[in-house]
Amino acid sequence: MQNPYQNAMAQLDKVAKIINFGDEFIARLRQPDRDIRISIPVKMDNGSQKIFEGYRVEYNNALGPYKGGIRYHSDTEINEVKALAFWMALKCAVAGIPMGGGKGGITVDPKELSKNELERLSRGWVQKLADVLGPHKDIPAPDVNTTPEIMAWMADEYKKLTGEENGATFTGKPLDKGGSAGRGSATGLGGFYVFDSLRAQIGLPEKCRVAIQGFGNVGGNAARIFAENGHTVMAVSDSKSAIVKDSGLDLNEVEVHKKKTGSLKDFPGAENITNAELLELSCDLLVPAAFENVITGINAEKIKAKAILELANGPINPEADEILFKKGVPVVPDILANSGGVTVSYFEWDQNLKNEHWSEKEVFDKLKPMMNDAAQKIFKKSQETKTYLRMGAFILALEKIKEKMQ
Ligand code: NAD
Repeated sequence: MQNPYQNAMAQLDKVAKIINFGDEFIARLRQPDRDIRISIPVKMDNGSQKIFEGYRVEYNNALGPYKGGIRYHSDTEINEVKALAFWMALKCAVAGIPMGGGKGGITVDPKELSKNELERLSRGWVQKLADVLGPHKDIPAPDVNTTPEIMAWMADEYKKLTGEENGATFTGKPLDKGGSAGRGSATGLGGFYVFDSLRAQIGLPEKCRVAIQGFGNVGGNAARIFAENGHTVMAVSDSKSAIVKDSGLDLNEVEVHKKKTGSLKDFPGAENITNAELLELSCDLLVPAAFENVITGINAEKIKAKAILELANGPINPEADEILFKKGVPVVPDILANSGGVTVSYFEWDQNLKNEHWSEKEVFDKLKPMMNDAAQKIFKKSQETKTYLRMGAFILALEKIKEKMQ
C-alpha cells in the first residue's frame, strides 16, 4: 500500500495535470520547508528510561505561521506526518485563514503509558522543539490521541521554557487554560456545515441515513450533530468494533454503553459488524472519521453510499478516488470537510493574542459562514474546471498559496 505522503504527492501530480501551475511551483510543494525528527527520552514509572521518536514537519508558511496537530499513534512515522502537514497547508488556504501547514507526532501507543509517563513524554516533545515553535512561527494543536489536557501540559512546558504569557502557541487547550469555546466539537460541526451547504448540490435527500467510521472527537461529535439535525445515524465504529441499526442508533445510549463496557460491541438492538462492513453499508452518506487509507482500490467498487464526507485526513487513496468518481459517488474532501477544527484553532489563537474570550455562539456564528463560503467556492471551482470536489479544493488552495509565494 502507498504511504500517505505518496498519496498526497499523487494528488498534487493529478492537479498539476488539470491546471498548469508551473513546474517550479509544483517542485517546491513536493518538499516541506523542513522536517524535524527528534528522540525523546522518558523516565518510565518503573525507573527505566525509554526513547521515543517524535516529529514536527513545517510544510509551507506562505499564508501564515505553520499550523497543525500532533498525533500520538504506534503507526505514526515521518511520511504520515509529512502528508498531514501538506494537507494542512492546503486546508488553511481552503478555509480562508492566515495560517500555513505543519504537523507533528510521536510514535507511541498512548494506551500503554501511565498518565505521568504521557505527561513527561508530551513535555519532552516541547523541550526538543521549543525553538521552532511560537505564536508567529509554528502553532501545534490536537490530533488523534492528543487531548486538551495534553495541550495544556505542552503549553505549560512552553511557558516555562520561554516565559510566554498569552498561551497562543498551542491551540485546543482546555477552556479554563485559554482554550476556545466550541473547539471540541468544531471539526464535526464544521463538517456538518459543509455537508449542509452542499447536500442538495451533491444529490442527497433532506434527511440522510448516515454511517460513521470512528467514534472519537471528530466521529463522536459528528454523529451527535447529524442526529440532532434530524438525520438517521445508522452505524458507528471504533478501533475494535462496529454496530449498525437500520432505524437509527440512540447515541446517548451508545455513549453510555461504550463507557460501561469499553466497546461499542453488543449494543442492545444493534447488529455487530466489522469496520470493513461499515464502509460498504447501503446508506446516503458515509463519513470516514478515523484514519487514512481506509477506502482503496480494494474496496472502492463495493462502496454503496450515495456520497462521502471525509472527516478523517486522507481516508480515500488516489486509486479509490478515481473509482468513486467513475461510479458517480461525490466525495467532499478532507481539506474542506474537516477544516472547521483548524478554523476554530485559529479563533483560539486570535482570542489569546487579543486577550479576548468569545462565547460558543460567537464562535459558531463565525464558523458557519466561513464553512459555507469555502464549500460553495470549491463547488464552483470544480464545476468551472470540470473536475471533482477534491481537485476543485486543491486548485483553489494552490492558487492562493502560489499567489502569496510570488
Ligand atoms: P480520536 O483519537 O479522538 O478518535 C479516533 C477514532 O478512530 C476513535 O474512535 C478510534 O477508536 C477510532 N479508530 C482507531 N483506529 C481505527 C480503525 N482501524 N478503524 C476504525 N476506527 C478506528 O481522533 P480524532 O481527533 O477524532 O481524529 C480522527 C480523524 O480526524 C483523524 O484522521 C484526524 O487527523 C482527523 N482530524 C481531526 C481533527 C481534530 O480536531 N481532532 C481535525 C481535523 C481532522
